[in-house]
Amino acid sequence: MKLTIGHLYPDLLNLYGDRGNIQCLMKRCQWRGIEAETVEFRIEDRIDFSELDIVLLGGGSDREQKLVCEKLQTIQKDFKAYVEDNGVVIAVCGGYQLLGNYYKTGSDFMEGLKLVDLYTEQGDGRLIDNVVIKSDLFDRPVVGFENHGGRTYIKKNKALGKVLYGFGNDGKSDEEGVVYKNVIGTYLHGPLLPKNPHVADYLIRNALERQTGQKISLEPLDDRQEIEANQYIIDRFVKSSGK
Ligand code: GLN
Repeated sequence: MKLTIGHLYPDLLNLYGDRGNIQCLMKRCQWRGIEAETVEFRIEDRIDFSELDIVLLGGGSDREQKLVCEKLQTIQKDFKAYVEDNGVVIAVCGGYQLLGNYYKTGSDFMEGLKLVDLYTEQGDGRLIDNVVIKSDLFDRPVVGFENHGGRTYIKKNKALGKVLYGFGNDGKSDEEGVVYKNVIGTYLHGPLLPKNPHVADYLIRNALERQTGQKISLEPLDDRQEIEANQYIIDRFVKSSGK
């Protein structure tokens, strides 16, 4: 068993510690004796999605997203086929916005990948805060930090979770992120996976199950420190919000 993680455009989409997400996935595989490799793709590289088990699309500023979005159109068909074949994707913030149909700012219109039927439009002011969400995919809440000007509307798709603290997708719906097949899109960074090892394991398990066609039960790891830090955020922010 070997997992190959594709990190898309880390030179452009790398805001707020996205690389930490990769390190977390790699370490959690290694600690369990699961072979794992990360392949970084630059904008000029060809991507063979059939060789990938997990794809990470990180966050970026509007300017960087603009640079990436034209390139994304050239890989759309292959990326879509990977997603429809249950390929695992974690897309954070700017990457999450690019999963959808488009991202519209005051001065720009960026065509998205159209992998998930959602869209993003810039609103008044930025949504910046710590976030805690409750997702029915996990026993524990998911914590993170958000900083986005775009408001994402996920239409009929399933949200990653309900907002217990923070703004979430649009600051109004009380929903955060999206789940479509094995794709997770979220505004949570900070980075997401070291703060939420249960989310990292969800991605690893799904990738292994897709590759082997078998049910996988991952060996538990000593996550006491991570859980303590995760719990600190929940206690600090959710208790005060009264939700
Ligand atoms: N440029 C996007 C926004 O501000 C995403 C920013 C990010 O990735 N943090 O909405």
